[in-house]
Amino acid sequence: MFYFEKIKGKKVLKSSILEGLNHFFTTRESIIKTKDSDYEKLAQDNRGLFCEYFGIEKGKLIYPSQTHTSNVDVAQIDKSAYPDTDGLILTNKEQAVFLNFADCTPLIFYDGKIAAVSHAGWRGTAGMIGVKTVEKMVDEFSSDIKNIKCAIGPAISFCCYNVGEEVLSQLIATVKDSSGLYEIRNGEIFVDLKNINKRQLVEFGLKEENIDICPYCTVCNNDLFFSYRKENGTTNRHSAVIKL
Ligand SMILES: [Zn+2]
Repeated sequence: MFYFEKIKGKKVLKSSILEGLNHFFTTRESIIKTKDSDYEKLAQDNRGLFCEYFGIEKGKLIYPSQTHTSNVDVAQIDKSAYPDTDGLILTNKEQAVFLNFADCTPLIFYDGKIAAVSHAGWRGTAGMIGVKTVEKMVDEFSSDIKNIKCAIGPAISFCCYNVGEEVLSQLIATVKDSSGLYEIRNGEIFVDLKNINKRQLVEFGLKEENIDICPYCTVCNNDLFFSYRKENGTTNRHSAVIKL
């Protein structure tokens, strides 16, 4: 279940499935990533607040350069640059990791010991970045797939996300059972990107009850979150933040 909480006086969204992990999804007032000069100061101030909250230096709050790939890397202490990386696994307690979103689907994973964040827009979802993240946790860190919890955060949802035929076919090719994951409305194709990610993960071996899907749509709940589509290419982002 998703719920709001205030951290340092700023509204953030959390998932009860990730109990035990320091994590949150930022909202408009808790923004930490932007290229918009009107939001720059707020974002910088918020980063400072969250570093204080986590008890880490500013340089230890890191994010990769997301480019809609399905590349997954592992955060390393004293390394802050991760080019072309859309999934980052966190295994140390010194850093906090965040990824940035404005419609694309955020995925946070936690197995009780290590955690990860992934960026699943349609390209990342077509490239199965969620499954690749889990695979790396299992292969390189001996995570038990049955213990991996996943929170699927605020994203453009089934109500609002229409795509072309080419995108639809790439997305449904990633699951064995595509029932209920798309719909034609008035000749337009709508896809449920959150549930496509969930279906991929369940088909890969995650327990269905270990996956929590956020009810918020970035277009319908634009007062809380940012939407690239609704706000004509905004550079503001909400972020998925983790710290062990
Ligand atoms: Zn919507």
